[in-house]
Amino acid sequence: MQKVGVIPGDGIGPEVIKEARRVLDSVTESKSIALEFEEFPLGAGHYLKTGEVLAEETLQRLSRKDAILLGAMGDPRVKPGILEKGVLLRLRFHFDQYVNLRPVKLYEGVPSPLADNHRKIDIQFVRENTEDFYVGLGARVKSGISNTSLSLIRRAYEAKFDVGVDLKDEEELAFQIGVITKHGAKRIMDFAFQLAKKNGIDLVTSVDKANVLTEMYGLWREACEEASARHGIAKEFQYVDAVALHMVRNPERFKLLVAPNLFGDILTDLGAALQGGLGLAPSANINPSGVSMFEPVHGSAPDIAGKGMANPVGAILSSALMLDTLGHKAAADEIESAVKEVLRSGKHRTADMGGKTSTSKMTDEILKHLAHR
Ligand code: ATP
Repeated sequence: MQKVGVIPGDGIGPEVIKEARRVLDSVTESKSIALEFEEFPLGAGHYLKTGEVLAEETLQRLSRKDAILLGAMGDPRVKPGILEKGVLLRLRFHFDQYVNLRPVKLYEGVPSPLADNHRKIDIQFVRENTEDFYVGLGARVKSGISNTSLSLIRRAYEAKFDVGVDLKDEEELAFQIGVITKHGAKRIMDFAFQLAKKNGIDLVTSVDKANVLTEMYGLWREACEEASARHGIAKEFQYVDAVALHMVRNPERFKLLVAPNLFGDILTDLGAALQGGLGLAPSANINPSGVSMFEPVHGSAPDIAGKGMANPVGAILSSALMLDTLGHKAAADEIESAVKEVLRSGKHRTADMGGKTSTSKMTDEILKHLAHR
């Protein structure tokens, strides 16, 4: 029996998670996959009622799960950042989910902003999730001479930075430190190359800006070269600006992209746009030897919450990613095929895709196309 912690969260989160559960229930029943679900009422409602964002005891309970399925966090009644940082980022760091996997696929029948939307876009996008410019090290310095002590504490390492600044005549300065470690770069590269092998991909494209940020991305490149040799799969290096250009002009050229945190954050949203919008995009925060978390790329979308308009496909495909990671590839493929069939017909589209199909009707159609039906 595998155990799944479910966090429906805020806004459209509970609406799309309900649909993902319907699809999961159907597929797991037909394939005799034993999954046990437990819901965790985290999010704005819980926070406003109890003042609690994420209790230590909840973290302990979640740590006994095999996976977490999450809807969305964020609510206009709560100051931005409290829930996103307090729940989402806390979970990612606590469980050391160092891989952010976002497949970017343009399915037939989906309107894309590309002029020619019959493109064969199928990219495994691997974003590093714990380092780079997102380590939270920085300060603002006002006038004169100052010393700032910063520390970065991770399970695998600790780093201390003492930064002395002499501002001379300048009024104010702000700085932010980016960090890439050998440990961090090696493990994301190993994941990327292993994923390439699993999917029969013969070229890994590494994204960086090593011509300007030479130290950080010099180390990043070394880790990529070593992983390429270790896994016997070719690699190429591309600057982030070139990748942005190619993703729009010639996205077919990429099969697997591996990117540091900041560039990965930006490029994966470009990817979501190319694949037809936020409502369709799935994601996974993975720790291959720990608890991984699966969530649609979109947020809580308060503007459409409660209206039955949300596109459930991102959440449904995220649950397929979860099944795949839990070792149930055939079940995951069955879900993806059903989604593809429904999208290809072009008859059922939610409002974000320019149609009128409701959230639950979209799922009804996907359920009809599951192979075992
Ligand atoms: P966050 O900061 O939490 O990521 P955000 O406000 O930047 O949230 P989202 O909430 O993801 O972004 O959504 C932006 C807009 O995209 C929403 O307001 C909504 O109109 C649309 N949208 C997002 N997800 C969906 C979906 N699943 N179905 C339909 N429309 C969606």
